[in-house]
Amino acid sequence: MSLANACLTCGACCSSFRVSFYWGEATGAPNGYVPSELTEAGYHPHLICMQGTNQKQPRCVALQGEIGQSVSCSIYADRPSPCREFDMSIDGSNPSCDKARSKFGLLPLISVIEVA
Ligand code: SF4
Ligand code: SF4
Repeated sequence: MSLANACLTCGACCSSFRVSFYWGEATGAPNGYVPSELTEAGYHPHLICMQGTNQKQPRCVALQGEIGQSVSCSIYADRPSPCREFDMSIDGSNPSCDKARSKFGLLPLISVIEVA
């Protein structure tokens, strides 16, 4: 599997951090798109978070599959902004991705330079 698909065999970030975002992104608000039934109250009146991520051992309720094996996001097209903005780390470009992968015993992703 190429680096482009590495997230499909990972899912570590969906089980490592509180996924917190502005309440207006959820379907309870006009023009919201994240399913409100999968969210819960956050630490601030204007913030909500994905269910399951606001706990000591987070796991987003929308994450399907087994971390490090095969995973998918059940609301991928409607996922909240923190998920859209979280980049896969290649060669250390996103230390938070590396940190999440490490938590599950997954190595950092590195690019491979092909030599002719
Ligand atoms: S931790 Fe990094 S590689 Fe794993 S799913 Fe998240 S962004 Fe993708
Ligand atoms: S909404 Fe999807 S991409 Fe975002 S944390 Fe949950 S499972 Fe991961």
